[in-house]
Amino acid sequence: MPSVALALGSNVGDRLATLQGALDDLAMVPGLDLDHVSSVYQTAPVGGPEQDDFLNAVVVGSTTLEPLALLAATQGVENRWHRTRDVHWGPRTLDIDILAFGADRVDLPGLVVPHPRAHERGFVLVPWAEVAPQQEVVGHGLVAALAGAVGSDGVQPTTHHLTIRGEG
Ligand code: ATP
Ligand code: CA
Ligand code: CA
Repeated sequence: MPSVALALGSNVGDRLATLQGALDDLAMVPGLDLDHVSSVYQTAPVGGPEQDDFLNAVVVGSTTLEPLALLAATQGVENRWHRTRDVHWGPRTLDIDILAFGADRVDLPGLVVPHPRAHERGFVLVPWAEVAPQQEVVGHGLVAALAGAVGSDGVQPTTHHLTIRGEG
């Protein structure tokens, strides 16, 4: 089964409850198995309007789903958490990005994997390096090396932890 890495972020509402709820929903997706979730980081928003800090985490696992079916599933979970798309890079209850899909490259109108901005974002790389340091970001290098290069400015550890508790 291809490995997958998903980034979760929230900066509206009860951010921690939303991230845990989203993880529970993802764990219920048939054909998606979650293996490890990073700790939770509080991060300064990057791009977009002035807005509140995010909580971010990364979860890794494996899937039998095709990439577009995985995207449909992650967007379904976003919608359950009342995700809206009013402002580009604006505040959101929940964002789930597909960071990597095995060693595949996907380049479709609605889905580009590896995520085109993941390799330059501390708020993605720092949690990702916690759970999959040796994963290759196709075309860019290993997660741990990218995290080291980008650094952790604006990415603060928290004492919060998420739990993988469903079966998918
Ligand atoms: P960014 O992509 O820079 O993190 P964003 O997460 O705010 O920005 P969204 O509004 O959540 O962007 O998504 C815009 C579109 O990006 C989605 O409708 C989806 O079709 C597309 N998309 C392309 N590649 C991916 C990917 N790897 N993961 C999730 N969505 C993707
Ligand atoms: Ca995003
Ligand atoms: Ca997104």
